[in-house]
Amino acid sequence: MNTEIKKAILDKIKEYSRIIITRHSRPDGDCIGATKGLREILKDSFPEKEIYLLNEDYSDYLAFLGGEDEPISDDLYKDALVIILDTATIDRVSNKKAVLGKEIIKIDHHVDIKPFGNISWVEEHRSSLCELIVDFYLTFKDELVMSKQAALYIYTGMVTDSGRFKTNAVNGETLRLASVLLDKGIDTESLYANLYMEDFGVLKFKSYVYKKMKITENGVCYIYVDRKMQKKFNLTREQASNAVSFLDGIKGCLSWMAFIENMNDNATRVRMRSRFMTINKIAEQYRGGGHECASGATVYSKKEAMELVAKTDEAVKEYKRTHTGWL
Ligand code: AMP
Repeated sequence: MNTEIKKAILDKIKEYSRIIITRHSRPDGDCIGATKGLREILKDSFPEKEIYLLNEDYSDYLAFLGGEDEPISDDLYKDALVIILDTATIDRVSNKKAVLGKEIIKIDHHVDIKPFGNISWVEEHRSSLCELIVDFYLTFKDELVMSKQAALYIYTGMVTDSGRFKTNAVNGETLRLASVLLDKGIDTESLYANLYMEDFGVLKFKSYVYKKMKITENGVCYIYVDRKMQKKFNLTREQASNAVSFLDGIKGCLSWMAFIENMNDNATRVRMRSRFMTINKIAEQYRGGGHECASGATVYSKKEAMELVAKTDEAVKEYKRTHTGWL
């Protein structure tokens, strides 16, 4: 699929001697795995080229995968090819200098609401962007090299973004692509230890979330992580944001969300999730969007937050009224 676009991307990669890779801000496992994996593939396949992975933020949770490159001067962007991965809209890019590049390639799996880039390869049905990186490697297997380390990065992105191969977007192709990575001999035991082990303080925060969370009449579960709570548990932004994952799996709750108050302005970031039903249209009404069952939004008051909860509660009610088998 999309063979011509993939060929055009490879041709561009061959044409440039300097390539800068970037991703979205507030990174997750998928964009970190995909960018680090692609960097390794390009470095090993084209050792004569300068390949940089440049971003303005990173993730503590994925620190075990190692860091990224040190900033380079703005001048070096002018004749570089910039590849932006896993970023639906250019304003979400972590590296704000990406636009200085001579040409931009977008590779993504989010809904393409605001297309950008000289070449754009978007496959929305993929469970992770990392699937596309393996697909790209396999399409040009004779010309590209994938090391065990690259495979580890990309596999990490696949398992984290697909909820450990649990989401509906996972299909036979996902597992066929994952098998290519496993065949490189990656150490999955160590990977999962890094992904699952938690500091005891985080577990205390988790138990507090279960104490404070609320469930609406029709089954929306939510937690409001205000600044006070973040200070009490000494949480990083990432640890606070992770509260949404604690709420997954409560019977009867088809949607769950975490409101994370910003420390330095009056915005509150909303992380929204759902099972069976879609919630991205609601997120779009609150300065956000995203996937059908995983979206983000921003609200500016508790009143607005509760309005969002009420709308989602109404959507859950309607879904339950018109569907069966939702547990
Ligand atoms: P998050 O809760 O940050 O993991 O976001 C869930 C999904 O929604 C991600 O795939 C994001 O790309 C998407 N998303 C988050 N915020 C926005 C936004 N403001 N606009 C569009 N999509 C978003």
